Amino acid sequence: MEKTLSIVKPDGVKKNLIGEVIKRFEQQGLRVAALKMIHLTEEGAKGFYIVHRQRPFYESLTRFMSEGPIVVMMVEGEKAISIVREIMGATNPKDAAPGTIRADFAADIEHNIVHGSDSQESAEFEISYFFSSLEIH
Ligand code: UDP
Ligand code: MG
Repeated sequence: MEKTLSIVKPDGVKKNLIGEVIKRFEQQGLRVAALKMIHLTEEGAKGFYIVHRQRPFYESLTRFMSEGPIVVMMVEGEKAISIVREIMGATNPKDAAPGTIRADFAADIEHNIVHGSDSQESAEFEISYFFSSLEIH
């Protein structure tokens, strides 16, 4: 059983895709074990994306991630980390496989609707960034 952290980003919330994202996870047999809607400050977004602090897109990304509410969730199931990444599609919607969330809905490489942890190590950091043990069911 794996756990991963997923986010419906501000563009996904604005486009009314909260249910669509959750539906795709549930249809693949994954279970939502924690969920909330929050509005990150820029500092909050910078802390979440701290691994990208040296990248040229860090400022723009963290401004985008704090421009409106997001839905954060912990998702669990067998191979949850890689299954969520498959459902999401490649970072750049131009490279994303047909039928993935990013291919279907993302505007560009930055505004790509959804986040999913890329490894067990990042999943642990990201889950604890948003959820206390009392919020995980
Ligand atoms: N991003 C961007 N420009 C890039 C690469 C990434 O704006 O050239 C944004 C995009 O929103 C992406 C996030 O930064 O989802 C984190 O990047 P990462 O490489 O971790 O992609 P992901 O794991 O989300 O597919
Ligand atoms: Mg990533």
